Amino acid sequence: MTSRNKIVAATDQLLKRLGPRKVSRDGERKYLASFDSSKLSYDYEALVRVRTEDDVGEVLRLANEYKIPVTARGAGTSLTGSASPVRGGWVMDLSAMKRIAIRKDKSMAVVQPGAVVSDIQGAAAKEGLFYPPDPSSLKYCTIGGNIACNAGGMRCAKYGVTRDFIVALEGFLPTGEKVSWGGEYRKFATGYNIRDLWIGSEGTLGVVTKAVLKLVPMPKATWTCVAAFKTEKRALSAVKALLGEGMAPSILEYLDEDSIYCAEEIAGIRLFKKVEGKPLLLIEFDGDPVELQAVKRKLKPWVDRWALAFKDARSQSAADNLWEVRRKCSGAMFALGNAKLNEDIVVPLESQLKFIDEIKRLRKKWKLPMPTFGHAADGNFHVNIMFHREDREEHRRAEGAVHDLMQTVVALGGTISGEHGIGLAKSPFLPIARNAAEIAAMKAIKKALDPKGILNPGKLFESYQVWDKTPVDIRLPWDKKPILKA
Ligand SMILES: Cc1cc2nc3c(=O)[nH]c(=O)nc-3n(C[C@H](O)[C@H](O)[C@H](O)COP(=O)(O)OP(=O)(O)OC[C@H]3O[C@@H](n4cnc5c(N)ncnc54)[C@H](O)[C@@H]3O)c2cc1C
Repeated sequence: MTSRNKIVAATDQLLKRLGPRKVSRDGERKYLASFDSSKLSYDYEALVRVRTEDDVGEVLRLANEYKIPVTARGAGTSLTGSASPVRGGWVMDLSAMKRIAIRKDKSMAVVQPGAVVSDIQGAAAKEGLFYPPDPSSLKYCTIGGNIACNAGGMRCAKYGVTRDFIVALEGFLPTGEKVSWGGEYRKFATGYNIRDLWIGSEGTLGVVTKAVLKLVPMPKATWTCVAAFKTEKRALSAVKALLGEGMAPSILEYLDEDSIYCAEEIAGIRLFKKVEGKPLLLIEFDGDPVELQAVKRKLKPWVDRWALAFKDARSQSAADNLWEVRRKCSGAMFALGNAKLNEDIVVPLESQLKFIDEIKRLRKKWKLPMPTFGHAADGNFHVNIMFHREDREEHRRAEGAVHDLMQTVVALGGTISGEHGIGLAKSPFLPIARNAAEIAAMKAIKKALDPKGILNPGKLFESYQVWDKTPVDIRLPWDKKPILKA
């Protein structure tokens, strides 16, 4: 059988077993699943909208029999192409499997993979519980996608990433066999911890069909404040000092001078009357109101020593106003270029001052704007390389700048991704961050669990010329609109 005939026969079988409501060979829904938020679109054979665990097992077993590539998909918000079906085959959409059950007595949530993260947080909040991981895409992205990418967010400063909240996972090996790694209990010391291997594996080692999540008590109060600093280096030195004093903000976001330019000059947001164009730290603490009073007292000498200007929010709406600067600067960046490479590199605390010099060097060398903001407590910065897509020469410079950035952060002791993962967009850079033995170990695990290479093939290890591929021209629900001063 030719490979074309084989995939047609396999899809006929799939249609027979799951029915036409779950399997589509064409249509708009199928097209929309040919790419994720990277907008790198690839042709594939059929979209399978699974509804039950049995459906998932059925798809994978058939895929193994006929050797058909399968790409699992949640909401498709991945920024790296990890959910784009680069090798064709079938896309398995798990977004309809979205049940959420809160186990208040155990402080756990038992969820299906398609549950949207903000819905999980809402269900937990009704029981006075809290699921802290907060990717900015939380109103859209699914827990299955978050587990596969080990998603982070602003609150990682205090609470950690998705991995820190996974108690157990259940699902299918790429071969279609059912497995569970842990259960609704906190401890397990029963063989290899493959649960943690699945987390962050970008859907290449297994398909999650159920997750048990750890919940924590809902903090009773939050306190938000913002500080401006004379220089970027002073802002990041202040971060080190704050953490060094044992303070544990739930959020600690840094915005560099270019980001502030975008917020102030382009979006028209000014937080301080007398201080203009200066880098900021947006800080939030959460906890008991009495605890927060103590935090305020403890922060005062830090403010006096480091900050040029400072203000805090006395109400939720005042806090929302402070956050506007972070929310709006992202959209405002599109005044600097119609395309953005949003990198999510990590730099250890001790190298952050050198990192500022390196960003300046990169801007000068590649002659491109690179507003940089991000999660200062864990050194996970978003370097936004702005360029004009239609300008081939500028496009090539952006490509060179990313390569240079990746080498730079690794030389500083950091790594190339803190939360978005590798997917297609960063696979050319994996050998910069991982040595040959490390990559060989990863490939050996992949081979052992997925001998036929069924699950999400072509990701992580293979270098695609994604730069030469034109992204689809479509505005997704979560895309930031360019913002200009009113
Ligand atoms: C506006 C915007 C803001 C963002 N902000 C953040 C942020 O702050 N922090 C952050 O970490 N990320 C962020 N992201 C990236 C993205 O939202 C995350 O990577 C998210 O985890 C993807 O979830 P998803 O449901 O959309 O997964 P998809 O994009 O559908 O898939 C992502 C990966 O997960 C795999 N996968 C999906 N479901 C399963 C499953 N059930 N079993 C196994 N594998 C599966 C896919 O195969 C793919 O490899 C942002 C994206 C956007 C568009």
